[in-house]
Amino acid sequence: MRHGRDVRGVGMTSARTRDRLVSRLRREGIANEAVLDRIREVPRHLFVDEALASRAYEDTALPIGLGQTISQPYIVALMTEALVRGLAPGEKLGRVLEIGTGSGYQTAVAAPFAQHIFSMERLLSLIRRAQERLRELKIGNVSLRHGDGLRGWKAEAPFQGIMVAAAPADVPGELLEQLEEGGRMVIPVGARGAQRLQCITRTADGYRREPLGAVSFVPLLPGTGN
Ligand code: SAH
Repeated sequence: MRHGRDVRGVGMTSARTRDRLVSRLRREGIANEAVLDRIREVPRHLFVDEALASRAYEDTALPIGLGQTISQPYIVALMTEALVRGLAPGEKLGRVLEIGTGSGYQTAVAAPFAQHIFSMERLLSLIRRAQERLRELKIGNVSLRHGDGLRGWKAEAPFQGIMVAAAPADVPGELLEQLEEGGRMVIPVGARGAQRLQCITRTADGYRREPLGAVSFVPLLPGTGN
């Protein structure tokens, strides 16, 4: 048996450990109970290497190989909360674009809040692993694609929500174009050490930006790799 690798978890991956993480996020200001429930529910320990499983419910980013990290739970909760703001309980967003699939953790957290998630990742090996995990967890409303997210996913646009998990210097114009009116994009912007998370809403006559605080993401890089 793969000790602690099952979905429910034992010891440091158990329900009690997850409850502690949720209490912490609540104290830090996450108020959407559906989002908190989803954080409790998604087995984050299955998205990291077995050697790191005991740290999976700490509120930190952890390495997932190739110099990339699984996002910090607080940031995943904050971004999801911003994206779903204003929805009635049980109501879903339509199409959502995610840039930077990474481990697939954030995809898994956001999945029940959208009709469909289109997620892009520039590193092929990460996307293969993410695909496997999402399948294992029977999360079916997700399409993954190996590609450069700076260009967005034009064939599936427009999107009601866009979440970007790596930081560009400026908001990419093609992503702004692929946001539908009334839709929202959550994106970290700026150079390493000076990034700010922004929530950008497309309105009838332009874009409205709201700051969500200082953050630290890996850079959004052009092109693709293995
Ligand atoms: N949210 C993810 C973590 C993402 S880390 C999780 O929960 O695991 C950011 C990811 O963005 C990395 O995997 C990196 O390879 C990817 N990335 C960086 N630039 C990109 C680009 N231009 N297009 C697509 N993915 C990109």
